[in-house]
Amino acid sequence: MNQKAQRITLIGAGLNGPLLALGLVERGYQVEIYERRPDMRRVRMSAGRSINLALSTRGIHALTLANLWKQMQSIIIPMKGRMMHSLNSELTFQPYGKDESEVINSISRAELNIALMNAAEARGVKIFFQHRCVGIDLKTGNLQLQDENNGVHHAVQAEIVIGCDGSASAIRNEMLKMPRFNFSQHYLDYGYKELTIPSGPSDKHLLERNALHIWPRGNYMLIALPNIDGTFACILFLPFEGPDSFERLTNHAAVEQFFQTKVPDALAIMPNMVDNFFANPMGAMVTVKCSPWHVGGGTLLLGDAAHAIVPFFGQGINCGFEDCTVLLELLDRHGADWTRVFSEFELARKINTDAIADLAVENFVEMRDRVADPQFLLGKKIEIALEKKYPQRFVPKYAMVTFHRVPYSVALQRGQVQDAMLSELCQGIGRVEDLDWELADRLIHAKLTPLELS
Ligand SMILES: Cc1cc2nc3c(=O)[nH]c(=O)nc-3n(C[C@H](O)[C@H](O)[C@H](O)COP(=O)(O)OP(=O)(O)OC[C@H]3O[C@@H](n4cnc5c(N)ncnc54)[C@H](O)[C@@H]3O)c2cc1C
Repeated sequence: MNQKAQRITLIGAGLNGPLLALGLVERGYQVEIYERRPDMRRVRMSAGRSINLALSTRGIHALTLANLWKQMQSIIIPMKGRMMHSLNSELTFQPYGKDESEVINSISRAELNIALMNAAEARGVKIFFQHRCVGIDLKTGNLQLQDENNGVHHAVQAEIVIGCDGSASAIRNEMLKMPRFNFSQHYLDYGYKELTIPSGPSDKHLLERNALHIWPRGNYMLIALPNIDGTFACILFLPFEGPDSFERLTNHAAVEQFFQTKVPDALAIMPNMVDNFFANPMGAMVTVKCSPWHVGGGTLLLGDAAHAIVPFFGQGINCGFEDCTVLLELLDRHGADWTRVFSEFELARKINTDAIADLAVENFVEMRDRVADPQFLLGKKIEIALEKKYPQRFVPKYAMVTFHRVPYSVALQRGQVQDAMLSELCQGIGRVEDLDWELADRLIHAKLTPLELS
């Protein structure tokens, strides 16, 4: 394919596709996107696909570079921390950051997608909806597309193809046929289902608005993220099989009984819960790792297509948007030397996307189980105290990932060192006031170098 290509073809107008397209048109490229779904601005989305996302620093940085962050202010709700709901409906609030500037932002996936597509189209990107990519000749760039209205196939000759087509990528499926293509996918034994908490009178939120609510129940959990219309988008994460599992929730009475005994305060404000439960599909969660991500300078995978992760660190799209930032920076540095840009992109990102994939799996245990443990909550308080005293050296793992753009691989490695340090410091104490500061000082200076924060 042409090394000086000026026309870029993206597959997938989900979240990464339109954002990347914006950056490419701004650099003078002509961009077209083929998307298999209908245009969600004209067709109602199917039930149960309205997931809210937690947008944080990496995503915000990419949106700021695209001049879009300001306009997002009207569709986000800052969440200052986790509100834990115990079995007897007691509430415990745990802030995410060291102060109120460290928040994550609840945003509707559909609203974000629409804003991105509108902006991309306004700057000249052409999006072809209901065009499913069904194959690609990786040597020539010949794309096979299927019109989803009538099933008719046609071909498009592309110069450069970037697969932004999500965790079940058709472009990646084609790359799987290449010799020595590395690929692994790992499904969790858990599924998820979306539910809704309706708004109260005058569109008021029925729970604290500026928090991510969690009902941690050991090996499963319910979460709720606020929407701007007063509702909450909830997700129930539950094992597929076993005692408390989706396989047991097959009828009205079983679902009602489960909610009544496990999350009674949530049930009390979800009048349509059972109907919702049966109307919405059950999703699966997968970690995908693969390499290489590119075929010479002609085809590249980006976002979930290259590295799908489970949702428990709230980083999937933040990581994908960071992909866009890095790719565009490389393009600025090297110009249209696509082979170089693509291979440096993979080199820069793979180590980090592998790290966030592992961190995301690890965080599931933290969210569904450990957040209810007083010792864990003490650890969190100690982390904040250490960060206040040593802001350049001790930055909690959650903060490195969420409030800074520290490479994920560095966050993973330093996080492991810090976790070991914390368990030593927390031994035998029940309050932050009892912390052995001398020991903390010694450990921190011996084990943690100053960190470059961005
Ligand atoms: C339950 C859940 C909760 C999540 N919560 C968060 C969160 O809080 N924070 C966060 O950052 N991330 C979160 N994520 C992850 C986030 O949703 C993904 O990382 C993100 O959507 C990936 O963007 P993408 O553009 O790569 O893929 P997608 O958003 O999946 O978009 C891919 C697009 O490609 C299209 N497509 C697919 N195949 C084809 C084809 N053959 N031809 C043409 N088009 C095609 C699809 O229709 C879709 O529009 C969550 C994910 C889940 C499942």
